[in-house]
Amino acid sequence: MKRPTVLVLGAGYGGLSTVVNLQKLVGTDEADIILINKNDYHYESTWLHEASAGTLSPDQVRYDIKDVINKGKVQFVKATVEGIDVNSKKVATSAGEYTYDYLVIGLGFEGETFGITGLDKYALSIANVNAARQIRDHIEYQFATWSTEETRDDARLTIVVGGAGFSGIEFLGELGNRIPELCAEYDVPKEKVRVVCVEAAPMVLPGFDPELVEYAVRQLEAKGIEFSIGTPVVEATPEGVKIKKGEEEFEFIKAGTVVWAAGVRGNRLIETSGIENMRARVKVEKDMRAPGFPDVFIVGDCALMINEAINRPYPPTAQIAMQQAVTVAQNIVALMKGENTKEFVPELKGTVCSLGEHDAIGDVMGRKLTGTKASIMKKVIDNRALYMIGGVPLMIKKGKFKL
Ligand code: FAD
Ligand code: NAD
Repeated sequence: MKRPTVLVLGAGYGGLSTVVNLQKLVGTDEADIILINKNDYHYESTWLHEASAGTLSPDQVRYDIKDVINKGKVQFVKATVEGIDVNSKKVATSAGEYTYDYLVIGLGFEGETFGITGLDKYALSIANVNAARQIRDHIEYQFATWSTEETRDDARLTIVVGGAGFSGIEFLGELGNRIPELCAEYDVPKEKVRVVCVEAAPMVLPGFDPELVEYAVRQLEAKGIEFSIGTPVVEATPEGVKIKKGEEEFEFIKAGTVVWAAGVRGNRLIETSGIENMRARVKVEKDMRAPGFPDVFIVGDCALMINEAINRPYPPTAQIAMQQAVTVAQNIVALMKGENTKEFVPELKGTVCSLGEHDAIGDVMGRKLTGTKASIMKKVIDNRALYMIGGVPLMIKKGKFKL
């Protein structure tokens, strides 16, 4: 009998964890497992704010996929997925066309710009390792250029961060530590630099614990970061951003750098795949399959699941992506054996938001944490993610152990 082909698209937390779990459950001759990813490395999306600010090297954020897959069981293909057609069971890639018996789509997130004019063109997004490197280099270029200019344009030294969600706040935490280093390196007086966070909602980290949010804002303000709250960005231009301050009141913030961190959507390839979706996210069945396509699983940020307790979607997080991957792998094996699939039940352990290397806030298993304790917890979480995919060797190679 022909072995089934399991095709996994994307080696992010969802896709790579699915493969790592599958290779433990499936014997060498039981299935052809093919993993397709744009790069031959996986990157820790959850560390991209550090690489973007320049507080961590982009190399530290990524590791080789071949180091964590069992090459006897998994074929890795470095290729870009160009199209998915679930009706004809075909996946077009830069390395040719693939078909499958079971498909797992784990192509991750893209920054959401909500159609706001100019953002696509003039704002940078913390999207992947290369984008992070570009943000780091762009900020550094602005500092370097300012110091060589005869007529100095101080707006070069203004950084606007759009969105005070977790990504925006974590990036600001890193900037708070990085700016003094850049000022020293390029002989820029600290008071010339402005870092402004613009948030549409009436509070920072909407929906998070108000006491922890207050702590975060206090800590970031102490590092010179300004907040403009309840003032959505409505346009971006080459000179900066326009924000809405009232019914008919607008302000223009001139800035040399605009980083957009105001939300995510699923990978746009989902939109042309033939699967019903909302902003490229698929409202999956309880067992993580795409509705109407019993051989297609969606994992990670491309999947949408409703938390019935509050009737709102679960946030797209690495924590949930990795948990989903365990169920997806088990369910593929169940289908291969003709058994019933099982329901995915998320186990929410809490949230820790970093405020720079030695500071953080966290709500973990009902306990509120701030400062060093929260920061240590964040490193434990980061190291755990490495351990879950690559065991102790990967954790030792890439982990965060400096307290
Ligand atoms: P991704 O991690 O986005 O991986 C997708 C993979 O698919 C990538 O390898 C990519 O290269 C590949 N790919 C994309 N398109 C193609 C293509 N066309 N062809 C081939 N390959 C392709 N979550 C938490 O739980 N905790 C945190 O602390 C946390 N911190 C975060 C910090 C930041 C700055 C950001 C941006 C996000 C953070 N998140 C956090 C959210 C978390 O990173 C995402 O939920 C998670 O990465 C989703 O995993 P994924 O596997 O769906 O996608
Ligand atoms: P988000 O959706 O959580 O936050 C985006 C923020 O941008 C919101 O506060 C929103 O009000 C604001 N916004 C939207 N439109 C705006 C506009 N026009 N002008 C100004 N502000 C605007 O998105 P995110 O922070 O990118 O996070 C994405 C996902 O990743 C979330 O699920 C988040 O929980 C997760 N994440 C988790 C962590 C962590 O656990 N430490 C860190 C980063 C990201």
